[in-house]
Amino acid sequence: MTRTRNIAILGATGSIGRSTLDVAARHPNRYRIVALTACRKVEELADLCSRHGAAYACIADVSLAPALERQLKALGAPTKVLAGAAGLLEVATLPEVDCVMAAIVGGAGLASTLAAARAGKKLLLANKEALVMAGPVFMETVRRHGSVLLPIDSEHNAVFQCLPPAFLAANFDNAGIRRILLTGSGGPFRSRARSDLRHVTPEEACAHPNWVMGKKISVDSATMMNKGLEVIEAHWLFGAKAHQIQVVVHPQSVIHSMVEYTDGSVIAQMGNPDMRTPIAQALAFPERIEAGVSSLDLFTTGSLTFEAPDFERFPALRLAYQALDENGTAPTILNAANEVAVAAFLERRLSFLHITAVIEETMQGIAATAMRSVEDVVAADSAARLRAAEIVRRLGAQVP
Ligand code: NAD
Ligand code: MG
Repeated sequence: MTRTRNIAILGATGSIGRSTLDVAARHPNRYRIVALTACRKVEELADLCSRHGAAYACIADVSLAPALERQLKALGAPTKVLAGAAGLLEVATLPEVDCVMAAIVGGAGLASTLAAARAGKKLLLANKEALVMAGPVFMETVRRHGSVLLPIDSEHNAVFQCLPPAFLAANFDNAGIRRILLTGSGGPFRSRARSDLRHVTPEEACAHPNWVMGKKISVDSATMMNKGLEVIEAHWLFGAKAHQIQVVVHPQSVIHSMVEYTDGSVIAQMGNPDMRTPIAQALAFPERIEAGVSSLDLFTTGSLTFEAPDFERFPALRLAYQALDENGTAPTILNAANEVAVAAFLERRLSFLHITAVIEETMQGIAATAMRSVEDVVAADSAARLRAAEIVRRLGAQVP
């Protein structure tokens, strides 16, 4: 008999949050939902808490706490309401919680994700920005507090599945591994000329060919910054150096990534593109559970194709490798500028091609420094956001 695990989901109303609830609800004897959080969606959060019997609900926007109280009361749910940054930290560190799903989008998830690691929780990491912006500090926190970190990002989860057991944070070079082959669909604009992308709208950028995801990661996929962030994520998760991480464009999204060994073996993890697979793998690890994902039909899939990434058409990839190379707070600066630029694009204050222009100029304008503490991360993040916002204001005047 497996013991029931108590789960908290940071970012429960999002795409990953909902997929996590879907998987957990298939196994009521294994998983109990203890706490759920959202940014502003009061009704959705109350509804999820009522349906999944959560003991705690946290709304990040403090002003919405009374509305959440009312909504839960109307539903007859006995859920306790928490709010704001302090509420998120409380959810991440609740003594009765075994496992925290970190699925807030962007740097807003850093503090609560780190708090879960510090509390020694089993940490399922979807919030890649937290790891990208705080790399060494994040990994040191995980190590020092004995947190078990499992990747949810489909590529990193695939790599994890292709590695020797319990490899995370082990020595890449001594394990007979040559390189990681990180696959990516190439996004909705894979075969479009760069000049063709000038007038792209948020709706077009968010229409991903294979995955349904939140808006920010959808835009990141369209610029290929998502793959860039994932290269940095792979560096920290697996201890791989930049030259040991090869991006492979694979439009069908059937192979979710591969590991190549020194003897020439290449091991791939395959499956239908459905985030419930990595979520279930991490939730149940080292066991396997039903995730609600249909069988991969290889006859319908037909052929799998592969292309080299184009660093000219997708400069975000080049900038991410550059940030990894510069080290220190360079990835923090890259991530912050990207978040500011993507938000501006989604609000139609910046054109699509200017997203990477903002990132490049921010990286040129702010010198990366050593990263020793969370304070170093927060300082670099704030400075980069201010600088990026200035650049957005200047370039935004030229939105077509
Ligand atoms: P989403 O936009 O669908 O959901 C984001 C969640 O975060 C929501 O619950 C929202 O309420 C919460 N949130 C947003 N801003 C917040 C703030 N300031 N404070 C507190 N909470 C806030 O995003 P998503 O697609 O589910 O992605 C979540 C994370 O998972 C991202 O880091 C993304 O890169 C990563 N990820 C997503 C997918 C996917 O398929 N969706 C795949 C791999 C990795
Ligand atoms: Mg991914």
